[in-house]
Amino acid sequence: MRIGHGYDVHRLTEGRRLVLGGVEIPFEKGLLGHSDADVLVHAVMDALLGAAGLGDIGGLFPDTDLAFAGISSLTLLDQVMDRLGAAGFRVGNVDATLLAQRPKLAPHIPQMRAKLAAHLGVDPARVNVKATTEEGLGFTGTGEGIAAHSVCLLEEV
Ligand code: MG
Repeated sequence: MRIGHGYDVHRLTEGRRLVLGGVEIPFEKGLLGHSDADVLVHAVMDALLGAAGLGDIGGLFPDTDLAFAGISSLTLLDQVMDRLGAAGFRVGNVDATLLAQRPKLAPHIPQMRAKLAAHLGVDPARVNVKATTEEGLGFTGTGEGIAAHSVCLLEEV
């Protein structure tokens, strides 16, 4: 078993789509970033890469590379999974927490789990997503941004 942790933050801004866990969520703002800025998938990818000892997404998918402009983060996750497979790992489980004051994310979590599980190649029961506010405190509490934490276990195949 190998354990990994990932953390990511993106700024909320007008004129962008809000995509979390591959699910587009209706909201007046979206996350700013080079890709679709899916902060949840980014945290999950960094947890996976961390567990495998393969670095991080900043090294793998640099934001100076035009190939990744506007790309779906689920496509990047597929590339991470290819690397994990080549290194002899499969996913044991993934857990993640989104930190956002608004919008209400609970109704979208089942769909996020299903999408993540499909791309991770595991049953949705092995993928958990939670969401919390931070009681109005800090940059997530004021709605300046959304953060995500993730942990995972990888199994050697
Ligand atoms: Mg990111």
